[in-house]
This record gives sequence, structure tokens and C-alpha cells, in this order.
Amino acid sequence: MITRSPANVQTPSSMPESGRRIVVHDEARPGWQAQLAAAIRDPRELCRRLNLDPGWLPGASTGHALFEVRVPEAYLARIRVNDPQDPLLRQVLPLAAESETPIGYVQDPLQEAEHTPRRGLIHKYASRVLLIASPACAINCRYCFRRHFPYQENAPSRAQWDDTLAYIRDDPSLNEVILSGGDPLASSDRQLAWLSQRLESIAHLKRLRIHTRLPVVIPDRVDASMLDWLSATRLQKVMVLHINHANEIDTAVVEACARLKQAGVTLLNQSVLLRGVNDSVSALSALSERLFEAGILPYYLHVLDPVTGAAHFDVTDEEARALVADLREVLPGFLMPRLVREVPGEASKTPL
Ligand SMILES: *Cc1c(COP(=O)(O)O)cnc(C)c1O
Ligand code: SF4
Repeated sequence: MITRSPANVQTPSSMPESGRRIVVHDEARPGWQAQLAAAIRDPRELCRRLNLDPGWLPGASTGHALFEVRVPEAYLARIRVNDPQDPLLRQVLPLAAESETPIGYVQDPLQEAEHTPRRGLIHKYASRVLLIASPACAINCRYCFRRHFPYQENAPSRAQWDDTLAYIRDDPSLNEVILSGGDPLASSDRQLAWLSQRLESIAHLKRLRIHTRLPVVIPDRVDASMLDWLSATRLQKVMVLHINHANEIDTAVVEACARLKQAGVTLLNQSVLLRGVNDSVSALSALSERLFEAGILPYYLHVLDPVTGAAHFDVTDEEARALVADLREVLPGFLMPRLVREVPGEASKTPL
């Protein structure tokens, strides 16, 4: 745990006693909320900024009408210009193929609607519950299994939280709460600090887990006020980031991860296996190596959930197994993610 004085949270280049440079948000840049608000939400703008051939525009507009474009500048900066095959671009550029409706692809592949005993609470697995802490995301990933999820209905108000917290308090078999979304870190730190205080007052809870892509998409999200409530809680903290390609981890992400680690957070990563993004041994091994350089351990490699609009990202189970077998030849065991699928009704993720 680190103790930050007001002086060293202000200046990005301050030198703490250890001599290690802690880089906190540079005050000259807009804060994370402003960056979030300024994200690109227009497919024309996205194509123009990346100097893509206008031929991509009609498809981008078709996909955008189904699930809107959202790309913050900090993420855009990691995408190569004039390269439609860029692995980061493929995650955010809408395509005409999204309007296809192949057999087997559905709106709610995980059937989560059946496991919500309280609004915004999903209790599918033993010992842990998942809370939809924020319906919003900082980025719209085209393969997202929640692209049709009824977020608005599931975003709890302060009053509804009381009901959710009572459910957790009344079930001593629970020891971990997972904040998910959307992206839970799209909530304000005021809201998150309030929630974390309520959760830590429940004696049977040991861990707070946060599933988020925000520190990757907008690294400035990991600012002083976030580190304050994270450092303060008695709960053990685990953050499961969502990174699919080594190019997503730039210097700012590495620095954000260093701040999280200094606040006592264990960092893990989950990826989705995506055609044209990371479906090669070289891409997956580079990702694991780069994750470890940033202090993150690979956790899950998910096969795609069969959500309508994402079929073009699919990698068959056979290919997935072969890739992982080859990956095992080149990586140490601790850098191997677990290849899993989420099967509705199963009591945990299912290994492939
Ligand atoms: C993935 C998931 C969890 C957490 O599962 P772990 O295997 O512990 O990572 C919990 N609840 C739901 C609904 C999930 O989808
Ligand atoms: S950040 Fe996560 S929840 Fe949000 S769109 Fe991307 S994959 Fe979906």
C-alpha cells in the first residue's frame, strides 16, 4: 500500500522515497470523465481519423446503427493509421457483417436474465455474486456479449443498492463481490467509495473483484481519487482487466498498472479469442509476455459467446484447442490463460 501526500499526487514526475517514479495523471490533460465524454461516437469520424478507405463507411454505418461506435482518443492513438487489419481497429470498427443473423447466434447467449434475483445482481456461481455497477462502457467492443443486454433496466439506483446489499448480507456463503457492467469504473469514485464501504461492512465478504476495461482504454482513469478508496478498503482487491492484444498495452497502461499494484491490487487479465485480432500463437504469446511486463497475469481466454452481430469473430473450438496446445510449447505455465467457455446453467466457466 502506498501513502500519497497531496504533493506527489499533483506532479506526475515526483520521486517517492523508493526512487521509483509514480506517474499519476498529468494535470495538463483532461480528466478521465472529460476523455470519456469526448470519445468518438461517429463512424465517419472514426474512418476519417484513421485515414481508412471510404469503402469501409457504409458497413461502419450499418454496424453503428445496431450498436453505436465508441472509441476514446487514448485508445485511438494505439491504432495504426490506414490499416483496416489493425488488431485494435477490428475490435471497434463496425462492419456490415454485424447485421447477419446466423443460426445459433442469439441476443442473450448467457441467459443472464434468468439469474437476477435483485436488479443489477447476477448470482450464478457459488461463493460470489456479480453486480452490474455501471451500465456504461468507455469503449464499445464489437464482439461484446452484452451488446443487447438491457443495461438501463439493470442499472441500480442508490435505493436499489440497499436491496442488493441486503441480499449479500443475508447470504453468508458469499465471500466475494464482483463489480462488472458495462464497466464498473465508469461510475464516479464517490459512488464506488460508497459502495466499497458498504461491502466491507459485510463481515463474510473477503474480496472485491473488479472486471474492467477502463484502465486499458483510458489509463488516466486510475487517478488519485480512485486510488484513495481502493487503498482504504479492508477487502482484498483483484482487478480483472480485459486486454486482447499486446498493442493495447502502451506506456500509459503500464504506468496505470503500477499505480494499481502499489494500491495493493492483484492484476489479472481476461481476453476473448477473436478472429483477425489474436487468433495466432504469435499474437497470444506476445500478449502474455506483454501482460507480464505490465505486472498482469493471464487468467481466462474466452471463446466467443454466440451473440448476434459477432459471428465474424468466431474461432472454432478445434482451432482454439490447437492454438492453446501450440501456445503451451512456447510459454511458461504461469503465462498460460485458461481456455474457457461460458455455458448457460453451468456452475462455473467451462474449460475447453
Ligand atoms: C465469470 C463470472 C463470474 C466469475 O467467475 P470466475 O470463474 O470466478 O472468474 C461470476 N459470476 C458470473 C455471472 C460470471 O459470468
Ligand atoms: S468493455 Fe467489456 S462490457 Fe464494455 S463493450 Fe467492451 S467487452 Fe463489452
